[in-house]
Amino acid sequence: MNGNITFTIIKPRAVEKGYIAPILNMIHKAGFKISALKMLQLTQHEAERFYAVHQGKIFYEKLIEFMISGPIVVSILKKENAVEEYRKLIGNTDPEKAEEGTIRKLYAESVRENAVHGSDSDETAAMEACFFFSEADRF
Ligand code: ADP
Ligand code: MG
Repeated sequence: MNGNITFTIIKPRAVEKGYIAPILNMIHKAGFKISALKMLQLTQHEAERFYAVHQGKIFYEKLIEFMISGPIVVSILKKENAVEEYRKLIGNTDPEKAEEGTIRKLYAESVRENAVHGSDSDETAAMEACFFFSEADRF
């Protein structure tokens, strides 16, 4: 059975451009409930830990630089089959390839500055949620 939580980040450029509310509105309209939410700025060390799985890839260093460049919004979202449903809502990693009406198609600048993060499995969703939120911060 698939899990009912996923984890998302509204990335620095989308926050800077004023897209927090429009993106949260799309999340709401797609039937997700917000279980936890906060705004913060990552340190270099936190960003490196969060994206450890991408260490060594060609885009890794610039990705870290981008992710610490300004405040972000992190959130745990609830819905049946949340991981898959949210990946559908955000669209392809590369906004040029993202389907019409997806968050990345509407709000991403480029493959790096692609507006949002979404977990890729139930296991990573659980880990990413714990990375930012204690049990007491989750509703
Ligand atoms: P996704 O966020 O769709 O799960 P990945 O996990 O493969 O994508 O990559 C993590 C993040 O790294 C992407 O969201 C994007 O910000 C950045 N990224 C991925 N591929 C590239 C690339 N080819 N060039 C620049 N940045 C990239
Ligand atoms: Mg990923």
